[in-house]
Amino acid sequence: MIKAEHIFKNFGELHVLKDVSLEIRKGEVVVIIGPSGSGKSTFLRCINLLEKPTGGRVEIDDQEMTALRPKQVVKVREKVGMVFQHFYLFPHKTVLENLIYAPMKVKGLSREKAEERAKELLEKVGLSEKAGQYPSKLSGGQQQRVAIARALAMEPDYMLFDEPTSALDPEMVKEVLEVIQSLADTGMTMIIVTHEMGFAKMVADKVVFMDDGQILESASPDQFFSAPKTDRAKDFLEKIL
Ligand code: ADP
Ligand code: MG
Repeated sequence: MIKAEHIFKNFGELHVLKDVSLEIRKGEVVVIIGPSGSGKSTFLRCINLLEKPTGGRVEIDDQEMTALRPKQVVKVREKVGMVFQHFYLFPHKTVLENLIYAPMKVKGLSREKAEERAKELLEKVGLSEKAGQYPSKLSGGQQQRVAIARALAMEPDYMLFDEPTSALDPEMVKEVLEVIQSLADTGMTMIIVTHEMGFAKMVADKVVFMDDGQILESASPDQFFSAPKTDRAKDFLEKIL
């Protein structure tokens, strides 16, 4: 499981995270929602130490990330796949090459083994026929599905999604959400930052509402969407729904 305890993050004078704590148990899906600038991305990045918290501790499977040396952090981070709003695929590699690069380089898989696994994953995200294509030839939705498959190729125990559909044209949102939903159905442990409220309701075990660097509410989706407790959450939902 992942435990973030009393996370603070400052960028100079800017206090972005102010005492954020969250636990994610195995198999759980936590959806984080909240206004732009509230610190959601920074918090996700603190969890795998892409950002170093100013204060607090992060544990992943009983390993205290915040106490590890950089080399060990890299090792534990392999357990955590991350998918971003902008897909960050390697533009000069084909889809298949994108998927086999890290498993070969980091995990030491043979090309044959890596390709076999990559093809399974492409089938899972519905893109078998795109293995030999370059990312620029794919739609945004297809590129994001490749990015998800690429993260999965490292066989992570956890997946973090940071607004995975925010950069997509509306007609492509569904195909990406379906892939994420199918991952949830297989029991993957996930933290998802999203503005897709219908999806959040469906997929989340727990909804966390962040505003101004703090978690203001943490509740079941039913509770949260039917009866948010804080005015700020009510405001936010009124604007977005
Ligand atoms: P969200 O994902 O909820 O929109 P972010 O975590 O991206 O919010 O940003 C929270 C605040 O932190 C914003 O004011 C943003 O400008 C600031 N911020 C994020 N990253 C940095 C950084 N690397 N340096 C300085 N300020 C940053
Ligand atoms: Mg963000």
